[in-house]
Amino acid sequence: MSSPLPAAATGLRSAAAPSSPEPPRATSGVTSAVTPGATSGATPGATPAPTPRDGDERAPRGPVPGDALLRGATAAEYARVTKGVVDDIAARVAAVTQPFAGVGRAELGERTDAVDLDGPGIGTTEALRETAALYADNAVWFHHPAYAAHLNCPVALPAVAAEAMLAAINTSVDTYDQSGAATLMERRLVDWTAARIGFPVGRDERGEAAGADGVFTSGGTQSNLQAMFLARQRALEDLRGTERAVAQSRLRVLATSASHFSVAKSALLLGLSEDAVIAVGVDDEGRMDPDALGRALTDVVRAGDIAMAVVATGGTTDRGCIDPIRAIADLADATGAWLHVDAAYGCGLLVSPTRRGKLAGIERARSVTVDYHKSFFQPVSSSALIVREAADMARGSWHADYLNPATEDHEPGGEPNPDPNQVDKSLQTTRRFDALKLWVTLRALGADGVGQLVDAMCDLAQAVHADLAGDPELKLVAPTDLSTVLFRYEPDGLAPERADALVPQVRRVLFDSGRALVAKTVVDGRPCLKLTLLNPDMTLGDVRAVLDLVRSAAHGLLAGEELVTPDVPPCRDTHPRLVRDGVRPDAPPAAGPGAGPAAGRNEGSA
Ligand SMILES: *Cc1c(COP(=O)(O)O)cnc(C)c1O
Repeated sequence: MSSPLPAAATGLRSAAAPSSPEPPRATSGVTSAVTPGATSGATPGATPAPTPRDGDERAPRGPVPGDALLRGATAAEYARVTKGVVDDIAARVAAVTQPFAGVGRAELGERTDAVDLDGPGIGTTEALRETAALYADNAVWFHHPAYAAHLNCPVALPAVAAEAMLAAINTSVDTYDQSGAATLMERRLVDWTAARIGFPVGRDERGEAAGADGVFTSGGTQSNLQAMFLARQRALEDLRGTERAVAQSRLRVLATSASHFSVAKSALLLGLSEDAVIAVGVDDEGRMDPDALGRALTDVVRAGDIAMAVVATGGTTDRGCIDPIRAIADLADATGAWLHVDAAYGCGLLVSPTRRGKLAGIERARSVTVDYHKSFFQPVSSSALIVREAADMARGSWHADYLNPATEDHEPGGEPNPDPNQVDKSLQTTRRFDALKLWVTLRALGADGVGQLVDAMCDLAQAVHADLAGDPELKLVAPTDLSTVLFRYEPDGLAPERADALVPQVRRVLFDSGRALVAKTVVDGRPCLKLTLLNPDMTLGDVRAVLDLVRSAAHGLLAGEELVTPDVPPCRDTHPRLVRDGVRPDAPPAAGPGAGPAAGRNEGSA
């Protein structure tokens, strides 16, 4: 348990077959899978420039990538190049031995800056090879069983394949005449999600949403911004000029301090006053206290202000705690405030076979944020804002003659535009068909299949909590409803301030080594380490291996190995190891953690 970092690292299960100790070199997949010069298109040197036609001012001069664009004539080249990328990534995923290579930022920065972005093209094959050596070699791998830092999930295979489909076709789901079936498929998924939430779902004779509505977004941040935008539009409905400006300055948003920062940022973006967001009190476990909300709402009304929105969080980013939505809904309804439930993290519970009840009351929200790229195993980006009443969605609609006129004949009062144009509902205009990934995933795995994966990650978190109860060194900080683990290295006798200082140091040591990635945060004013377990393939053994690395790093730091000294920058670019200069501690701290003169030596560096 107290072995130095490199030895403890052997406890990690590798994603690769144990018999393949060597990770593939950066270039292997691309170069082996792609036959250079197989067609004329990829390499400028080998490509005859298109013959300029007489009088064609735009005819290219000099060597150009002749067949650079995806079209009928380059379809075979597209298949060859893309297959090369897929083969390369497949080889890498199979062989990854740690979540991060541990290369220093200075070196990465130099290599990034050294690429000549103004120079002549080097051809697709070479560009992909060079790029894989920079990007893929130094990527952070979310599927690795020692990645447990942020809210990133390993991605569902059918979704990654769907990503290739939508990227090549490049649909934009802003208007129906740019998307066809894609728009209708996105709408089906909005309905599907709304039904899972428990919103009424229906369509009118024109096929428009009659019950719930919604739209895919780039992420929870955008979903929350749009929810606050719609809530503000409602609160200021029919107000103009000074009256509107005065009312806007009185709008208040009630949320807890554990709500996602995008709520407060949205208030800023929407021009609310600087004290618009009121931090509602929480219970011991960090969930919104309905009594505190009741008092806060009373205060808002007494002050002559307007409770624009109450934001409940369906799984806080740090603790994974779910606010008591039903009780909050009662209070929001009583004051007429817009209830937004931010379920960016907890939305996976919508398909959980055993834990759906934790989101009870979510159907009483006026709007809900769901992040499929957090707990539906979707590639970034995939998120949605779902509203209970379609009319709310229209509060943000905007019409442009050239794109989505309100009426077919452009005349006020004319026949409504018959086309289903998603841009009417979105903050974005040109927009990816991210919904396709979720569509294929649901068809491939079934919603229950996704739900089982969600349960697996929650089960694992529970097992880790049980495992750590009574641990002599690692102390659990807070419980969770979802899949986070908050803890500190704090054996008996270690000064709390020393334990505070260890938190960022341990995280950085692990990151620099690349062997395990954990996060850090602050809970109740004290720093702590954080695991976010979103990988259903991870086992308790995998998590124990990560925790062993945490202990090893802490032991090393307490034994006096300097993590940061004034002359060594925090991101070391040479030797990303806890132990510099090849010297390893032979033994754990002699007199126990926190004891002895070594214990305080890193104090200044946190
Ligand atoms: C992650 C998160 C967000 C932000 O979502 P992004 O997709 O990262 O923009 C919002 N709310 C909560 C509760 C989150 O956990």
